[in-house]
Parts: sequence; structure tokens; C-alpha cells
Amino acid sequence: MSALYPVSDLYGFEELLTGPELAKLRSLRELLDTELRPVLADHWERAASPIHLREPLRDLRLADDPALLDGEGNVRELYRGFRNFEFSRTDIGTGMLYHGQVAMFRELVRQGGSDAQVAAWDDDIVSFRMTGAFALTEPDHGSDIARGLETTARRDGDRWILDGRKRWIGNVAHSEFVAVFARDVADGEVKVFLTRTDARGLTLTTIERKAALRLVTNSDIDLVGVEVPESHRLQRIASFADVSALFRTLRPDVAWIAAGAQAGAYEAALAYALNREQFGRPIAGFQLVQDKLVRMLGNVTASLAMAVRLSERRQQGVQRDEDSALAKLWVADRLRETVAWAREVVGGNGIVIDNEVARFFTDAEAVYTYEGTREMNTLIVGRAVTGLSAFVR
Ligand SMILES: Cc1cc2nc3c(=O)[nH]c(=O)nc-3n(C[C@H](O)[C@H](O)[C@H](O)COP(=O)(O)OP(=O)(O)OC[C@H]3O[C@@H](n4cnc5c(N)ncnc54)[C@H](O)[C@@H]3O)c2cc1C
Repeated sequence: MSALYPVSDLYGFEELLTGPELAKLRSLRELLDTELRPVLADHWERAASPIHLREPLRDLRLADDPALLDGEGNVRELYRGFRNFEFSRTDIGTGMLYHGQVAMFRELVRQGGSDAQVAAWDDDIVSFRMTGAFALTEPDHGSDIARGLETTARRDGDRWILDGRKRWIGNVAHSEFVAVFARDVADGEVKVFLTRTDARGLTLTTIERKAALRLVTNSDIDLVGVEVPESHRLQRIASFADVSALFRTLRPDVAWIAAGAQAGAYEAALAYALNREQFGRPIAGFQLVQDKLVRMLGNVTASLAMAVRLSERRQQGVQRDEDSALAKLWVADRLRETVAWAREVVGGNGIVIDNEVARFFTDAEAVYTYEGTREMNTLIVGRAVTGLSAFVR
């Protein structure tokens, strides 16, 4: 069977995937090509989320097909990585529709929920019957959220009362629940509450006029005396150390997302350069254009190598903050370079969304910032290699 990434996977990392894993990724490719590509530019223009894909994505069983699962019900880390790669090779925003639900929300519940909570909700989450978003960031606290969390939770018998504000929360406008991170006024520790988005006292406001990730609906949330039953507090999240553990799981996904977007931008730029003629020949035949194409391919290949090795280590049970932080910051940095070169190769047409590269160019800015900015991840790695924390002066 022909390779899945003949253009952008020069070193053949996909050969590390199993037959069923490759087959699953092919079916994802087919879905994205038929159901998303034709409407992609229009959705971008209208800043509309492609939520019509939720049902076919559920039917594909990308995360719960028994053919992909080990004895503990998990997919292999490498497949998980390539699943992110495949999504963002087509569109990062659409990948977030899936990733927000099946990675961020699901992982939070799986790691933070009691055995009974996971047993009650996991099947519904993976099959999009119980949809959810992840609400940590606040208007006044992004990078310093661990020490600055202002949203409060006050226990009142069998229920909790939440007050505060959240910002940037992806997909919450299309979700039934939102996982709200709040500080317990009694012990000062962080706790997480699965809050209904239609709860009294909860107001969502869409962040309009975004220049990046236009296919993702991001919202501000106001919480005024919102009630959540104790049954919907995730029982195993009791401190920011638990939240850090969660990010160790989520940050490698972002490295894969950033690698996949580079592949998408590179493939689009190469195809354009082979077709576009100037001075009587395809621009791909000019040395200065080839220089950019090769730089892009180098970035894609190195990013993939880093992501693959990270996933292999995670498969072996090695999970260190500095590993995932280094991968996230370094691959997102390469993403910024790659999408800029891709945009350049496509010339003026590179700012028209139909030519793909402008979408990757703008979306890269969001990937660069979320799940830890380059500076925050640098400080995590810097602390690990020096033993000295430089987060505050
Ligand atoms: C498109 C998008 C989607 C998002 N989705 C979600 C979501 O679903 N859920 C959620 O909870 N959050 C979400 N976020 C929030 C995201 O995690 C934050 O934007 C991120 O943590 C950075 O916070 P900030 O934007 O407030 O920037 P700030 O923290 O204000 O940082 C501004 C700049 O200052 C730098 N800086 C800050 N402190 C230091 C320091 N000590 N040393 C050096 N530099 C420093 C930062 O690196 C950055 O460059 C999303 C963000 C975006 C853009």
C-alpha cells in the first residue's frame, strides 16, 4: 500500500505504525478530504466551527476501536501522535474540535476522576455523547495561573458554589459541560468541577474578530454563584501538582499538532511551487525557492523525529516535565518558521485562504501560545537543566 505521507515524512516515521493504525489514519484522511476540505475556506471566513464532523468522527472510532487498544484500553502513543499530525496537516482548528474533547477533556476526567466517575463518563466522552471543554485560563491570569487562580469554589453541603471568570475557552459554546478549575476557599487548593454550560449564573461570550484558529469558537465565561454537585467534582485533583501531571500528558500532543501543521504548509507550498510558473519555468526550479522548501522539509523532519521519540519514551512510561516542555516550545518555534516560508513561496496568493498556507500561518500563532508559551516552557526546561527556578525574580 502507498505511503500516507510520501511528501513530508522523508525518513519514513510512519513505518513505525501498525497496519490497523495506518488504516484508521487513512479513514480519517478520507473523512477530512471529503467532509472538511470543500467547506474549510468558507468556515474560516465565517469563523464557524465544523461541528458537523462530530458525528462522523465519533463513527470512525479513532480512540476506542478495539483493533487499536492495548489490554488497558489505551491506544499506542505513536498512533495518538500521528492522529494529531493527520488532523493538523489538514487543519489545526478542526483538530482542536477533536483534541479538546478526546484529549483535553477526556484526559482530565481520566486522570482527575475517581474510578466510579471514569467508569460512568468515559464511554460517553469518547463518543461525544457527553461533550466538554477545559477552563483554566482567566482574563488576568494566563502564564501565572498556578499562583494566580482567582475563580473560587465554596462548599455548601452536597454542592459547590463557583464564582469567577475564564478566558479563551475552546469549544465551550458547543459543549454540554465545562471543566472549571477553581480555588477552594477552605483549603486554598485547586479543584475541578464539571459544570453544565446551561447552569444558572454561567454566561458565555464568544471572542470575536480572532485572527488565528478561526474554526475554533473561543469564549469568555462569567460564573456568578454557579452551583455544581459534589458528584461532579473530579475527586483526584487536589493540587497544582496534579494539574502539572496532566500537562505532561497534553503537551506532547501539541508538539505533534505543530509538526502536522508544518507538513500541511510544506505540502501546499511545494505543490504550488511546482505549478506556478515565472520567467517561463516552475518557481520550484529556482535555487532560492528550493532553499526554502528544503529548510521547511528539514523542520518537518526534525519536528517529527522529536515528537516520535517523545512518544516512544512516553510509551515506556518516561514522563518528565522538561521533555514535553522542550518538544512543545521547539516544535512550535519551527512551526512559526515553516509557515512563514510556505507563505513566502506562495507569493501574493499566499494570503488568500484558498491556497491553504495563510490558514497555517495565522493558526500557528495560537499554537505558539497555548499550552504554555515559549517563555514558560523555556523556564520549565531551564529549571530542569540548572536546578534554578527563574519564574520570578
Ligand atoms: C486560541 C487559543 C485557545 C486557547 N484555549 C484555551 C482553553 O481551551 N482553555 C484554557 O484554559 N486556556 C486556553 N487558552 C489560553 C492559553 O493557555 C493562554 O493564552 C496562555 O497560557 C498564555 O496566557 P496569556 O495569553 O494570558 O499570556 P500572558 O501570560 O499574559 O503572557 C504574555 C507574554 O508574557 C510572557 N511572560 C509571562 N510571564 C513571563 C515570565 N515570568 N518570564 C518571561 N515571559 C513571561 C509570556 O510568555 C507571553 O509572551 C487558549 C489561548 C489561545 C490563544
